[in-house]
Amino acid sequence: MSDGVRLIVFGRQGAGKGTQCVRLAERYGVPHISTGDMLRAAAAEGTEFGLRAKEFMDAGQLLPDDIMLGVIEERLGRPDAAQGWLLDGFPRTPGQAEGLMSLLGDSGADLAIDLDVPEDVVVGRISARRVCSGCGAIYSLAAPPAQGWTCDKCGADVVQRADDTEESVRTRLAAYNEQTAPLLAWFGERDMLVTVDGVGDPDEIAARIGAAVDARLG
Ligand code: AMP
Repeated sequence: MSDGVRLIVFGRQGAGKGTQCVRLAERYGVPHISTGDMLRAAAAEGTEFGLRAKEFMDAGQLLPDDIMLGVIEERLGRPDAAQGWLLDGFPRTPGQAEGLMSLLGDSGADLAIDLDVPEDVVVGRISARRVCSGCGAIYSLAAPPAQGWTCDKCGADVVQRADDTEESVRTRLAAYNEQTAPLLAWFGERDMLVTVDGVGDPDEIAARIGAAVDARLG
Protein backbone atom coordinates (compact mmCIF):
# COMPACT_ATOMS: atom_id res chain seq x y z
CA MET A 1 0.00 0.00 0.00
CA SER A 2 1.42 3.37 -0.96
CA ASP A 3 1.80 6.18 1.52
CA GLY A 4 0.29 9.57 0.93
CA VAL A 5 -3.22 8.77 2.14
CA ARG A 6 -5.35 11.45 3.77
CA LEU A 7 -7.71 9.86 6.26
CA ILE A 8 -10.22 11.28 8.74
CA VAL A 9 -11.20 9.02 11.62
CA PHE A 10 -14.51 9.48 13.45
CA GLY A 11 -15.81 7.68 16.48
CA ARG A 12 -17.35 8.41 19.86
CA GLN A 13 -15.03 9.13 22.77
CA GLY A 14 -13.77 5.73 23.90
CA ALA A 15 -14.40 4.05 20.54
CA GLY A 16 -10.71 3.15 20.38
CA LYS A 17 -9.83 5.88 17.87
CA GLY A 18 -6.50 6.71 19.50
CA THR A 19 -5.33 3.09 19.62
CA GLN A 20 -6.39 2.36 16.06
CA CYS A 21 -5.06 5.66 14.68
CA VAL A 22 -1.54 4.90 15.98
CA ARG A 23 -1.61 1.62 14.03
CA LEU A 24 -3.15 3.14 10.91
CA ALA A 25 -0.64 5.99 10.80
CA GLU A 26 2.21 3.48 11.02
CA ARG A 27 0.68 1.29 8.34
CA TYR A 28 0.38 4.13 5.85
CA GLY A 29 3.48 6.06 6.94
CA VAL A 30 1.65 9.30 7.63
CA PRO A 31 1.60 11.51 10.74
CA HIS A 32 -1.14 10.83 13.31
CA ILE A 33 -2.63 14.26 13.98
CA SER A 34 -4.77 14.14 17.11
CA THR A 35 -6.12 17.54 18.12
CA GLY A 36 -6.86 16.17 21.62
CA ASP A 37 -3.21 15.08 22.02
CA MET A 38 -2.00 18.47 20.73
CA LEU A 39 -4.20 20.33 23.22
CA ARG A 40 -3.15 18.07 26.11
CA ALA A 41 0.52 18.68 25.20
CA ALA A 42 -0.07 22.45 25.20
CA ALA A 43 -1.84 22.18 28.57
CA ALA A 44 1.07 20.16 30.01
CA GLU A 45 3.54 22.78 28.78
CA GLY A 46 1.50 25.39 30.65
CA THR A 47 1.37 27.94 27.81
CA GLU A 48 -1.38 30.56 28.00
CA PHE A 49 -3.15 28.83 25.12
CA GLY A 50 -2.72 25.43 26.77
CA LEU A 51 -4.20 26.58 30.06
CA ARG A 52 -7.24 28.05 28.31
CA ALA A 53 -7.65 24.84 26.32
CA LYS A 54 -7.47 22.82 29.54
CA GLU A 55 -10.50 24.66 30.96
CA PHE A 56 -12.58 23.58 27.96
CA MET A 57 -11.20 20.05 28.01
CA ASP A 58 -11.77 19.48 31.73
CA ALA A 59 -15.38 20.61 31.30
CA GLY A 60 -15.81 18.25 28.32
CA GLN A 61 -16.56 21.23 26.06
CA LEU A 62 -15.34 21.81 22.53
CA LEU A 63 -12.96 24.69 21.85
CA PRO A 64 -14.26 27.35 19.43
CA ASP A 65 -14.07 26.47 15.73
CA ASP A 66 -11.88 29.44 14.75
CA ILE A 67 -9.23 28.46 17.28
CA MET A 68 -9.26 24.82 16.19
CA LEU A 69 -9.07 25.75 12.51
CA GLY A 70 -5.97 27.83 13.28
CA VAL A 71 -4.42 24.87 15.12
CA ILE A 72 -5.10 22.43 12.28
CA GLU A 73 -4.02 24.83 9.52
CA GLU A 74 -0.67 25.30 11.24
CA ARG A 75 -0.24 21.55 11.78
CA LEU A 76 -1.15 20.54 8.22
CA GLY A 77 1.31 23.14 6.93
CA ARG A 78 4.28 21.38 8.52
CA PRO A 79 6.59 19.42 6.19
CA ASP A 80 5.75 15.97 7.61
CA ALA A 81 2.11 16.43 6.57
CA ALA A 82 2.90 17.27 2.94
CA GLN A 83 2.58 13.63 1.80
CA GLY A 84 -0.52 12.66 3.73
CA TRP A 85 -1.97 12.54 7.22
CA LEU A 86 -4.47 10.93 9.49
CA LEU A 87 -6.82 13.25 11.38
CA ASP A 88 -8.09 12.03 14.76
CA GLY A 89 -10.62 14.23 16.55
CA PHE A 90 -10.95 16.81 13.78
CA PRO A 91 -13.30 17.94 12.26
CA ARG A 92 -15.79 17.80 15.09
CA THR A 93 -18.43 20.33 14.06
CA PRO A 94 -20.03 21.41 10.75
CA GLY A 95 -18.00 24.65 10.94
CA GLN A 96 -14.75 22.71 11.29
CA ALA A 97 -15.67 20.40 8.39
CA GLU A 98 -16.44 23.39 6.14
CA GLY A 99 -13.25 25.16 7.20
CA LEU A 100 -11.17 22.04 6.60
CA MET A 101 -12.63 21.44 3.15
CA SER A 102 -12.04 25.02 2.09
CA LEU A 103 -8.47 24.76 3.39
CA LEU A 104 -7.84 21.51 1.49
CA GLY A 105 -9.90 22.06 -1.65
CA ASP A 106 -12.42 19.60 -3.08
CA SER A 107 -10.24 16.50 -3.30
CA GLY A 108 -8.60 17.21 0.02
CA ALA A 109 -9.33 13.96 1.86
CA ASP A 110 -9.38 10.38 0.55
CA LEU A 111 -11.65 8.66 3.04
CA ALA A 112 -13.44 9.09 6.35
CA ILE A 113 -13.63 6.09 8.69
CA ASP A 114 -16.37 5.80 11.29
CA LEU A 115 -15.26 3.51 14.09
CA ASP A 116 -18.67 2.47 15.32
CA VAL A 117 -19.12 1.54 18.99
CA PRO A 118 -22.47 1.83 20.85
CA GLU A 119 -22.75 4.45 23.60
CA ASP A 120 -23.15 2.00 26.50
CA VAL A 121 -19.93 0.23 25.48
CA VAL A 122 -17.88 3.43 25.30
CA VAL A 123 -19.00 4.65 28.74
CA GLY A 124 -17.57 1.45 30.27
CA ARG A 125 -14.35 1.76 28.27
CA ILE A 126 -13.77 5.40 29.18
CA SER A 127 -14.13 4.82 32.90
CA ALA A 128 -11.47 2.07 32.66
CA ARG A 129 -9.15 4.08 30.38
CA ARG A 130 -5.70 5.20 31.60
CA VAL A 131 -3.16 7.24 29.61
CA CYS A 132 0.55 7.94 29.84
CA SER A 133 1.16 11.49 31.10
CA GLY A 134 4.38 11.58 29.04
CA CYS A 135 3.74 10.13 25.58
CA GLY A 136 -0.03 9.65 25.55
CA ALA A 137 0.10 5.84 25.18
CA ILE A 138 -3.25 4.30 26.04
CA TYR A 139 -3.83 1.60 28.67
CA SER A 140 -6.85 0.37 30.61
CA LEU A 141 -7.63 -1.34 33.88
CA ALA A 142 -7.96 -4.53 31.83
CA ALA A 143 -4.68 -3.95 29.91
CA PRO A 144 -2.32 -2.12 32.31
CA PRO A 145 1.41 -1.42 31.78
CA ALA A 146 3.77 -4.31 32.56
CA GLN A 147 5.32 -2.61 35.64
CA GLY A 148 2.93 -0.84 37.99
CA TRP A 149 1.41 2.36 36.57
CA THR A 150 4.47 3.54 34.63
CA CYS A 151 4.48 3.61 30.84
CA ASP A 152 6.06 0.68 28.99
CA LYS A 153 7.23 3.05 26.25
CA CYS A 154 8.61 6.09 28.09
CA GLY A 155 8.48 5.34 31.83
CA ALA A 156 6.22 8.33 32.75
CA ASP A 157 3.24 7.93 35.10
CA VAL A 158 0.10 6.35 33.68
CA VAL A 159 -2.97 8.25 34.92
CA GLN A 160 -6.70 8.76 34.36
CA ARG A 161 -7.46 11.67 32.01
CA ALA A 162 -8.92 14.66 33.87
CA ASP A 163 -11.86 14.70 31.45
CA ASP A 164 -12.72 11.02 31.86
CA THR A 165 -15.13 11.74 34.74
CA GLU A 166 -18.71 10.58 34.31
CA GLU A 167 -20.12 14.11 34.02
CA SER A 168 -17.54 15.21 31.48
CA VAL A 169 -18.04 12.01 29.50
CA ARG A 170 -21.79 12.65 29.32
CA THR A 171 -21.18 16.21 28.07
CA ARG A 172 -18.71 14.94 25.46
CA LEU A 173 -21.01 12.20 24.19
CA ALA A 174 -23.86 14.72 23.87
CA ALA A 175 -21.55 17.03 21.88
CA TYR A 176 -20.60 14.09 19.64
CA ASN A 177 -24.23 13.16 18.98
CA GLU A 178 -25.29 16.75 18.31
CA GLN A 179 -22.33 18.18 16.45
CA THR A 180 -20.06 15.44 15.12
CA ALA A 181 -22.45 12.59 14.18
CA PRO A 182 -24.19 14.77 11.51
CA LEU A 183 -20.83 15.07 9.72
CA LEU A 184 -20.98 11.36 8.94
CA ALA A 185 -23.95 11.97 6.66
CA TRP A 186 -22.00 14.71 4.89
CA PHE A 187 -19.12 12.35 4.10
CA GLY A 188 -21.57 9.54 3.29
CA GLU A 189 -23.34 11.69 0.68
CA ARG A 190 -19.99 12.24 -1.02
CA ASP A 191 -19.27 8.50 -0.95
CA MET A 192 -16.25 9.14 1.26
CA LEU A 193 -17.34 7.16 4.34
CA VAL A 194 -16.66 3.62 5.51
CA THR A 195 -18.18 2.36 8.74
CA VAL A 196 -16.22 -0.23 10.70
CA ASP A 197 -17.51 -2.20 13.68
CA GLY A 198 -15.30 -1.06 16.58
CA VAL A 199 -16.38 -3.70 19.10
CA GLY A 200 -14.00 -6.56 19.80
CA ASP A 201 -10.31 -7.32 20.03
CA PRO A 202 -8.03 -4.40 18.97
CA ASP A 203 -6.08 -6.61 16.52
CA GLU A 204 -9.29 -7.79 14.87
CA ILE A 205 -10.57 -4.22 14.64
CA ALA A 206 -7.27 -3.08 13.09
CA ALA A 207 -7.60 -5.85 10.49
CA ARG A 208 -11.19 -4.79 9.75
CA ILE A 209 -10.14 -1.17 9.27
CA GLY A 210 -7.19 -2.15 7.07
CA ALA A 211 -9.41 -4.32 4.87
CA ALA A 212 -12.05 -1.59 4.58
CA VAL A 213 -9.49 1.08 3.65
CA ASP A 214 -7.69 -1.16 1.16
CA ALA A 215 -11.00 -2.09 -0.48
CA ARG A 216 -11.72 1.59 -1.01
CA LEU A 217 -8.31 2.98 -1.83
CA GLY A 218 -6.66 -0.07 -3.36
P1 AMP B 1 -10.16 13.96 22.43
O1 AMP B 1 -8.85 13.48 22.97
O2 AMP B 1 -10.21 13.93 20.93
O3 AMP B 1 -11.33 13.29 23.09
O4 AMP B 1 -10.25 15.52 22.82
C1 AMP B 1 -10.22 15.94 24.16
C2 AMP B 1 -10.80 17.33 24.29
O5 AMP B 1 -10.03 18.26 23.51
C3 AMP B 1 -12.22 17.50 23.77
O6 AMP B 1 -13.20 17.10 24.73
C4 AMP B 1 -12.26 19.01 23.51
O7 AMP B 1 -12.35 19.74 24.72
C5 AMP B 1 -10.87 19.25 22.92
N1 AMP B 1 -10.84 19.04 21.45
C6 AMP B 1 -10.13 18.09 20.77
N2 AMP B 1 -10.35 18.19 19.45
C7 AMP B 1 -11.22 19.21 19.29
C8 AMP B 1 -11.85 19.79 18.15
N3 AMP B 1 -11.64 19.35 16.90
N4 AMP B 1 -12.69 20.84 18.36
C9 AMP B 1 -12.92 21.33 19.60
N5 AMP B 1 -12.38 20.82 20.71
C10 AMP B 1 -11.52 19.77 20.57
